[in-house]
Amino acid sequence: MRITSNFDSGNINVVDISDAKNIQLSINKDHQSDFYQWFHFKLETTAGEEHILRITNAKDAAYPEGWENYQAMASYDRETWFRVNSEYKDGELVINHIPDFDNVFYAYFVPYSYERHLDLIHQSQLNPDTQLITLGETLDGRDMSLLQIGVPKPGKKSIWITARQHPGESMAEWYVEGLLDRLFDADDATSRLLLDKAVFYVVPNMNPDGSARGHLRTNAVGTNLNREWLEPSMDKSPEVYLVTEKMKEVGVDLFLDIHGDEAIPYNFVAGCEGIKSYDARHQMLEESFKAAYAAATPEFQDVHGYSKDKPGEANPTVGAAWVGEQFKCLSYTVEMPFKDHNDAPDAVYGWNDVRSAKFGADALTAVYAVIDQLR
Ligand SMILES: [Zn+2]
Repeated sequence: MRITSNFDSGNINVVDISDAKNIQLSINKDHQSDFYQWFHFKLETTAGEEHILRITNAKDAAYPEGWENYQAMASYDRETWFRVNSEYKDGELVINHIPDFDNVFYAYFVPYSYERHLDLIHQSQLNPDTQLITLGETLDGRDMSLLQIGVPKPGKKSIWITARQHPGESMAEWYVEGLLDRLFDADDATSRLLLDKAVFYVVPNMNPDGSARGHLRTNAVGTNLNREWLEPSMDKSPEVYLVTEKMKEVGVDLFLDIHGDEAIPYNFVAGCEGIKSYDARHQMLEESFKAAYAAATPEFQDVHGYSKDKPGEANPTVGAAWVGEQFKCLSYTVEMPFKDHNDAPDAVYGWNDVRSAKFGADALTAVYAVIDQLR
């Protein structure tokens, strides 16, 4: 038996691999940080035998409640990812699996690799009226890439989509891939009409360093980017600094910041009710958007989610709150589950890459419903 994580977004530490029925593992912390929860590794072994893999430091992970009723994901071909029997007990995540093939990958969620990210942004530039813009560099020297889709004209809205500030939330980039596929579909009337009315500014990966490093929550120097929006810096958070500078240049009329939530088994949004400038108009926009999203797909709901901020008590360092206040616009954090969306559960796959992409495509229906009311 052998375990390796020496590849894009790999993360695991092998404690003891002498016994297939008691493989002991631990997850490495994000660099210069105490956060950890993302794992991604390959087991090379003998198919057809029972394997018990124990993540021994699960209870001190960033969100231990994320392990409750969670089923790990596995794949033989790195294309199709399915759930495997997992249980959180005595502070450990215990995965019990009889692999069908000798080589099997396990991960916290379907990975979205840096190479696929490069494919996504460069293939996107082949579409009409689409520009791939490099805003600058990350601390590891990767491109900070922005897609500008549509022709800027006076009166057009600026719609911003960012994903994966928290790099372990790979569902966020699958969501963006689905959204882009639909936006580039010239036979989709919603997309065509949206591009008549708006320019889309899309950052498919806000944290490419953390993603490639196999981090859960931070960038190359341990910064949680979604607490940097009030005062980003080129030293600690160039990713946010570069994006906020561009936002100030072109404006923002609608912002969706795409995330995954470890614990809550539903898709939901978190809004701006706690920002200082929140008013009846902002509330009306939020309610219109949520109603349209729920009408577009049963994968969205508004019953389960975070408790609402009290008036004036939003954390102004969070991306969606900062944008909502700065630009007085509709601004949402979109959350998807690591587990499943319990309004439409799927025992084999749970919430996954394909559903995330469809959910991203459906977001355009909700954007279309509010586009004329944004300003
Ligand atoms: Zn997040």
